[in-house]
Amino acid sequence: MGAGAGEHRKTLWWSTANRRPQTSAIEADLSVETAVIGGGFTGLTAALHLARRGVRVALLEADEIGAGASGVNAGFVVPNFAKADPASVVARLGKERGERLLMCVGSGADRVFETARTLGLACDAEQTGWLQPAHSSAAADMLRARAAAWSALGRPVSFLSADEVRAQTGMDRYHGALLDASGGTIHPLNYAYGLARSAGDAGALIFENARVDAIERDGARWRLRVAGRSVSAATVVLCSNASMTGAARKLGRNTVPLRVYQIATEPLPKDVVNRIAPDRRPVGDTRANLFTYRLDRDDRLITGGMAIIPIHAHERMARMMAKRLSDELRLPLLRVDFAWRGVAAMTPDFLPHLYEFGPGFIGGVGCNGRGVAMTAMLGEVLANAATGTALADLPVPVASGRGIPFHILAAAAPSFAVAQARWSDRRAEGA
Ligand SMILES: Cc1cc2nc3c(=O)[nH]c(=O)nc-3n(C[C@H](O)[C@H](O)[C@H](O)COP(=O)(O)OP(=O)(O)OC[C@H]3O[C@@H](n4cnc5c(N)ncnc54)[C@H](O)[C@@H]3O)c2cc1C
Repeated sequence: MGAGAGEHRKTLWWSTANRRPQTSAIEADLSVETAVIGGGFTGLTAALHLARRGVRVALLEADEIGAGASGVNAGFVVPNFAKADPASVVARLGKERGERLLMCVGSGADRVFETARTLGLACDAEQTGWLQPAHSSAAADMLRARAAAWSALGRPVSFLSADEVRAQTGMDRYHGALLDASGGTIHPLNYAYGLARSAGDAGALIFENARVDAIERDGARWRLRVAGRSVSAATVVLCSNASMTGAARKLGRNTVPLRVYQIATEPLPKDVVNRIAPDRRPVGDTRANLFTYRLDRDDRLITGGMAIIPIHAHERMARMMAKRLSDELRLPLLRVDFAWRGVAAMTPDFLPHLYEFGPGFIGGVGCNGRGVAMTAMLGEVLANAATGTALADLPVPVASGRGIPFHILAAAAPSFAVAQARWSDRRAEGA
């Protein structure tokens, strides 16, 4: 399942993208050490790390670089979990494994900005910090504890008072906020293009329109069927996110697909920017039907949301999101210049996972809407796995890969979750 045919071309990012990176069409059979499947952040990062280590690597992308979630996301760089606290991760995985995963996830935003800086990627990277305001006093208590737990792990995370949040957002509904100083924003498509260009410069072969339809064992190697050609590889790294096309099914059936809608408005005047984002910090609050906003380089507002009934929801969602921006931020109704949607992947336990599908055939997924930061780490973890590090020694937990039972029904679960979220927010705010 991709973002939807050509959906990545409707984004603000596509309209403001740098020149596309040089790629190839697969015109002959090929033999490489490692085949990486998927040209999003995860696959591109894995290919970059592998090529830099001198591995002969081919990246195979079914569509175009950035055609999946990596080209349609909102570009919030958030180094934590969407639905887990440090304490709950340690409770689930144990102290040693839990803390390894926490350090990996917590370092994700620093890694994105460091990569952008050191590789000179022109992707509007702004490490201004990420703000998570609390919509209730119970949420404020939860964030205070969460900030203390991240801070105890050495991360630059603090708790802001209600007055400080008002100064940062111009909104007086919040009870405090978590601030992670390592977070920020990027132009996601330009980041993906920059990763692709760097991976190519390091020696990776990058193919577009190269959908992998099947993967079979061939002696001690793997044989991939790709657009009428055959690619032989000693190791295979599957980075296809929630996709269910061709060989990607193996990974996709372990995730719940989540349809997310995005808009970008007309540019805002400077006085409004100074009121709602004086330090240009991206915001994502604690409501179950969460409210998010960020600015792009032209001071457009970008926000996102999910539909209860995701059928013919495109225009309805764009109108609803524009109205929500104006209600929450006390703005006149803004013109929507770009509206698009994409598919994010959730794992059932909301944690990232590795999967071993056979000897030397691994996959990784589980960015749970926080993929920009997480993929910077997951891509490297997958490169380590492909070059011989035992899976048990890696910071991301390994799951069975058998797939979610009744996967087709799981796809409907988010609609119920959105309906329930709106109801529970109303209750929490009324409390
Ligand atoms: C609308 C939206 C908004 C989001 N906003 C944010 C945000 O603000 N911050 C954040 O941190 N995260 C966000 N996310 C999540 C984030 O974008 C993802 O977690 C991340 O991009 C995943 O990267 P990836 O490389 O694993 O997958 P993708 O970018 O989806 O890449 C997978 C690639 O695999 C290719 N592929 C699929 N099947 C095959 C096949 N058979 N053969 C070859 N190639 C194949 C696809 O074409 C695709 O390009 C958002 C997601 C969406 C959809």
